Amino acid sequence: MTKKLEGRVALVTGSTSGIGLAIALGFAREGARVMLNGFGSPDDIAKARAAVGEAMGMAEAPYSPADMSKPEEIRGMVAACQAELGACDILVNNAGIQFVSPVEEFPDDKFDRIIAINFTSNFHAIKAALPGMKARGFGRIVNVASAHGLVASPFKTAYVAAKHAVVGLTKSVALEVARGPVTCNAICPGFVRTPLAEAQVKPLAEKHGVSEDKALTDFLLDRQPTKRWVEVEEVAEMALFLCGPNSGSINGTALSIDGGWTAQ
Ligand code: NAD
Repeated sequence: MTKKLEGRVALVTGSTSGIGLAIALGFAREGARVMLNGFGSPDDIAKARAAVGEAMGMAEAPYSPADMSKPEEIRGMVAACQAELGACDILVNNAGIQFVSPVEEFPDDKFDRIIAINFTSNFHAIKAALPGMKARGFGRIVNVASAHGLVASPFKTAYVAAKHAVVGLTKSVALEVARGPVTCNAICPGFVRTPLAEAQVKPLAEKHGVSEDKALTDFLLDRQPTKRWVEVEEVAEMALFLCGPNSGSINGTALSIDGGWTAQ
């Protein structure tokens, strides 16, 4: 059976961990050659490269250490993908960070950093990758936004603003490319079982004086009706569909995968 991404080259930002790593693995298993990006210990990065490399039949997956808060490094990452793998057919803007604080105490530098990494990086990567996609006659852009790209929560001003901006950017780019071979969509997950989200459980348990299990269902997942984590593999399947052979008419959408959160 033909693999869904045979012959495609994908660049997945923030793919040394969590959702990005699951997307990279899913793409590699479906025949794509994937360049990884993201931070982590040398050991964690080596493990991610080996796992994705194995799925591609290589010793290790290509990797860019580019910092998504630095436009020059983002441009360098896209250029490296095109030089090393011959193209950048699929771009997944996934790298992201979180910080939780009341707005009047929100540190300026943390706010700026979240906007830069979670939002502005998407613009720089799309700008750099789009000309090559148009020239090769195929392109898929998937921006990993969030349920927080559609609705808000208190104490997450930077994150909510950045993710709403990602959804807006997605729609605008989608309209610009609509007559050509490129699509641009956003994925809006609820709470997904990853280090970024799991790190929010313990402070909630301490704040409310309850067990971590109770903090998870009653406070973190209070608006996620399924009362369970979304799994990274579920998000990876959605990204795969958006980049596969039957998705050319899906353009400019913000697809929820949130257990019903935003249905309320
Ligand atoms: P994670 O912490 O497991 O992974 C984040 C990745 O981004 C890592 O590879 C990290 O090294 C990378 N990264 C961070 N700063 C970077 C920088 N400056 N330059 C390059 N890479 C950088 O988190 P995750 O939960 O897998 O999150 C991935 C994306 O999914 C984020 O955009 C996040 O906002 C979004 N998201 C997560 C959830 C959730 O519940 N986990 C829900 C909705 C949306």
